Amino acid sequence: MRIVRTISELRAVLKALREHGSRIGFVPTMGFLHEGHAALIRQSTARCDHTVVSVFVNPTQFGPTEDLSRYPRDLERDQALCLKLGVSVLFLPEPSEVYPTGFCTFVEPGQLGEQLCGAHRPGHFRGVATVVAKLFNMVQPDLAFFGQKDLQQTVIIRRIVRDLNLPVDIVVAPTVRESDGLALSSRNAYLEPIDRKRALGLSRALFAAETEFQNGERRPERLLAKAREHLGEVDLQYLEIVDTQTLEPVDRDIVRISAICVAAVVGKTRLIDNVLLAPDPDTAQFTSHLEPV
Ligand code: AMP
Repeated sequence: MRIVRTISELRAVLKALREHGSRIGFVPTMGFLHEGHAALIRQSTARCDHTVVSVFVNPTQFGPTEDLSRYPRDLERDQALCLKLGVSVLFLPEPSEVYPTGFCTFVEPGQLGEQLCGAHRPGHFRGVATVVAKLFNMVQPDLAFFGQKDLQQTVIIRRIVRDLNLPVDIVVAPTVRESDGLALSSRNAYLEPIDRKRALGLSRALFAAETEFQNGERRPERLLAKAREHLGEVDLQYLEIVDTQTLEPVDRDIVRISAICVAAVVGKTRLIDNVLLAPDPDTAQFTSHLEPV
């Protein structure tokens, strides 16, 4: 595994790898890797000849009162995991490499970036869109892998790829959870034991709505009411059922693939989660183009 810190080194290494016509897979992360990241990396190594993983805690996607400086980091462990999973290139740029002095060009995701998390984290998706577009230009991958856990992010990235004609295919992989249902997240490391218990309210609420949905309930307000019953003691930011293409709230019976999405602060930690609600099991799923490897 090559560890590179500059864009010029990255380009030189990738040029050599590509000379043999290799397919390059890319998994962008903010590090403190867990099984959710590992699942994306495994998808990539199974489908591509070489996998590039980036670890970059992107300052432009954090608000002024958010956790940029205390975001959990463990590069040694991340490096060992990437090595074990067969990653070819680990890209570890410094902020000054990604945002040199005078940097002023941003990718603005528009309305999609203003709903759900965007309403609570102004500018967040502008930062995400900008860094992902930049990383795509640096790595020039054939395939890039993202987790359904960050559903809004995947919708925005697919739109950027389409709107900016970026030559990359996006693969979205299902959310990896703890055995009790909690979605894996680097931020779970912040949770005190009491908050770890409370955090389960998010997945419990989503699963309760999912069960009702599977039993035939199609009215969004009924599904949301069911979910609310199970949320418990969390500081709710939003609980919404949205269309997975537009991210607009669904206010009629669900007929197209939708998602129930939640964000809440538990203790001092902001957590998000979502579950897909697909009315017809035969209709294309959000993650459908993921063929078995
Ligand atoms: P992050 O390091 O949190 O920016 O996440 C990097 C990538 O891993 C993103 O595409 C996330 O959606 C994905 N990811 C994070 N948590 C999970 C999870 N529990 N299951 C699947 N993918 C995840």
